[in-house]
Amino acid sequence: MEFPITDLLGLNDSTQWILQYFHPQGLMCPNCGDSVANAHVFRRTKKSQLTVYRCRDCHTVYNLYTNTIFQQRHLTPQQVVLLLRGELKSEASITLVAELKVSPQTVLDVRRDLQDSARFLQTNTLLTDEHTETDEMFHAKRAGEKSEKHRDPLAPPRRRANKQRGRGTYENDRPPIVGTIGRESGQVRLRVVPDTTGETLEAHVHQFTHAEAIVYTDESNSYNHIIRSQATVEHGIHEYARDDDGDGIREVHCNTAEGMWTDVRNFLRPFKGVHKKYLAGYVAICEFRRNLKRISPAFISALVTFHAFCI
Ligand SMILES: [Zn+2]
Repeated sequence: MEFPITDLLGLNDSTQWILQYFHPQGLMCPNCGDSVANAHVFRRTKKSQLTVYRCRDCHTVYNLYTNTIFQQRHLTPQQVVLLLRGELKSEASITLVAELKVSPQTVLDVRRDLQDSARFLQTNTLLTDEHTETDEMFHAKRAGEKSEKHRDPLAPPRRRANKQRGRGTYENDRPPIVGTIGRESGQVRLRVVPDTTGETLEAHVHQFTHAEAIVYTDESNSYNHIIRSQATVEHGIHEYARDDDGDGIREVHCNTAEGMWTDVRNFLRPFKGVHKKYLAGYVAICEFRRNLKRISPAFISALVTFHAFCI
């Protein structure tokens, strides 16, 4: 996803950007919808350097951040733009704290709010592609990464790395992510799921592919009962692409899905270990990055609108 930054250097430029991306319909009274052009300029905030308006009709007091996840966080427009950019580009918290001079708690709070919002906005529409690939990956914490706090001091020391073999589940701390990608559109549908049973994976395939689509999967038994034309490759015997119809093109593969997982891994890497409780939020942001490629006012304004409590 591209996020142009070159013209965002000054207070005025950042303020203009927020006006355009947070309020594509123009700034207006959040209560009665009267245009800001009719409002009184009430005062200017000290920390955020924002103009505060008072509606002439209903006397509601508001500013650029009202009803967004940035309200009452006392951030300047530059900090807001760069924080938003950093979160969408998966920059590590420590970098954002240092570069933007905001508190670690603010970085974390903004991240959680954006993730909740992304989950709320995640599309449930099916892919229109003729050819789709569905695959799973397991998110395992590596040694030394964040874990649950140890509750019982007398219990044996916790294992630092999750060395467990076999298929992961949410329960055993290797939560599965299931993804479907359309070969024609490149669009993805990514979800954190509790397990990789047939029931779970079938539900995902049926929800996100249309009835005539061909679904390419690996050889997992969990896909045995999907009601779709299906082709599988046997990763177990190192078969990654196969020519089933003899035309010389090895069409049976999950290579597009592999590219999708590379994206997911790259997105998660800077965070150095994501708790399973929050994984779905990171994955939701990752899905938007992949599907949109470039930010738009419609996306940004929906993402920052304060509707996280709806979840
Ligand atoms: Zn009003």
